[in-house]
Amino acid sequence: MSRFQERKWSGEKGKKFGRVTDPYLPTEGQEAAVCTGCQALYQNKRWFFDDQLYRRLAGTDKVKEVICPTCRKIKEQYPEGILTLKGDFFQQHREEIMALVEKEAARIAAKSVQDRLIRIIPGGKDRLVVETTSEKLAQHLGRTVYRAFKGDLDFRWSEMNKFVRVYWSR
Ligand SMILES: [Zn+2]
Repeated sequence: MSRFQERKWSGEKGKKFGRVTDPYLPTEGQEAAVCTGCQALYQNKRWFFDDQLYRRLAGTDKVKEVICPTCRKIKEQYPEGILTLKGDFFQQHREEIMALVEKEAARIAAKSVQDRLIRIIPGGKDRLVVETTSEKLAQHLGRTVYRAFKGDLDFRWSEMNKFVRVYWSR
């Protein structure tokens, strides 16, 4: 727990003094903000992907170029969800299970700006840790593995932070 209370994330600086700041808000006369990392667009306080709109706006003065909160979390390795996969069955079916996790994560990430993988950390032969930018994605990936391979699934939320640990084992 203490490890996570010490976490610093620059994306939250604006909240420090209780001010309502929105660093992504396009300036007067601009149509949207665009993330130079993942090409996500920001309009009406919402992040989304739209290839057509991106192609129309990119490189023009109609957009404000920013780094979106998700790309920031990935760059600064600031997970809001951690999924741990472990067990003898996992060890024996590791490639199959990881292929499922990566495929499902890629499917979600293609349509949801907020839900992406940060990194996959090998934790020895029978264990693997998957860090995600959102609670939702860690839970979803845990449920995906559970649906495909059964086993045990457990969720533990942090009370202090917006953060979940998901454990799957078999
Ligand atoms: Zn981005």
